[in-house]
Amino acid sequence: MGFCRGEIDMVSVELQNIVKKYRNVTAVDNVSFKVDHGEFFVLLGPSGCGKTTTLRIIAGLETPDSGRVLFDGRDVTNVPAKNRNIGMVFQSYAVWPHMKVYDNIALPLQIKKLSREEIEKRVKAAAQMVNIAHLLDRYPFQLSGGEKQRVAVARALAFEPNILLMDEPLSNLDALLRVQARAELVKLQKELKITTIYVTHDQTEAMVLADRVAVMNKGRIMQIGTPDEIYNRPVNRFVAHFIGTPPINFFAGTVEEGYINAGFLVIPFKNIPPGLVGKKVTIGIRPNDISISPIEQSIPVKGKLVVAENLGSEFILHVAIGDVVLRVLSKNKPAKEEVTLYVDKTKLHIFSEEETRINI
Ligand code: ATP
Repeated sequence: MGFCRGEIDMVSVELQNIVKKYRNVTAVDNVSFKVDHGEFFVLLGPSGCGKTTTLRIIAGLETPDSGRVLFDGRDVTNVPAKNRNIGMVFQSYAVWPHMKVYDNIALPLQIKKLSREEIEKRVKAAAQMVNIAHLLDRYPFQLSGGEKQRVAVARALAFEPNILLMDEPLSNLDALLRVQARAELVKLQKELKITTIYVTHDQTEAMVLADRVAVMNKGRIMQIGTPDEIYNRPVNRFVAHFIGTPPINFFAGTVEEGYINAGFLVIPFKNIPPGLVGKKVTIGIRPNDISISPIEQSIPVKGKLVVAENLGSEFILHVAIGDVVLRVLSKNKPAKEEVTLYVDKTKLHIFSEEETRINI
């Protein structure tokens, strides 16, 4: 399979009911998903939720206790890592500082004992794919953060992989560089169209990069969807809270006939299923779905401004209404302590006592 730009074989990746335990910890708990040809799929979740273990199982660096891994429908569960044709990029890009870019890309191929000609061909092709062909003679200290990242990706591509696995590749960068490198990565993946599975705990990174995101918690998949779907229709309280900054506001309510009563806020609903009446619920509203000036379909609520955090271009207002303090994202800071909030009724998220989404 020789390759030059645009000639990567794309492979689909499917996990079926994967379980992996370490003594009494279930790191991966019955995980299933399918990543399509050329898709950018992100595994997102808090530290320890099983993302890295899932990625290592796909790579063949860990063996699952049960379940199957399929590449293009072919069972590879027992195929050793070296025969899976995967490229991996880990934290901090891991470029070797004392080696020129060329040697950084070539070394793994030398270890693989490929011929000098083959190595040269592959290094040049990979460098061209990520637009660093003009940098092969430089040392890493002569490169920008984004260029270093391209070197790490080129090294993975030089293996001629069908699948690219990345584990928090931007985590050691400072905030500014991270944003740049993230943008480069989006561009690169769109150009290469290589099936990519990317691990991060950073929700912004996931939202920006992913075609689809799998949100994980405690070894389980909570939701799989496009960034839009997981943001606008989180299936449970965990996903609603994990996605979005500043985080979503939650408060308690009770379902009555024709409305939900949250004490300070009474929310009319036309079609409440009779079975829900009398049930306790959690109501969620994102800080940017509350306004300090009237908006359509909103419910006004009077409150008191406690703190206004200045983010430069906008404010996070903390507004107390009785016992509840709501975070509100606002372009302006109210002039007075007394404020009226307008809660967008169409943007409320309702969760059951079991913390799953209720669609009313
Ligand atoms: P992080 O973002 O912190 O890297 P993660 O979501 O990638 O976390 P994993 O590294 O997959 O999580 O770990 C999942 C769970 O399995 C954790 O509780 C971890 O302590 C445990 N674990 C992972 N690898 C091992 C191991 N080799 N031996 C024992 N326990 C392990």
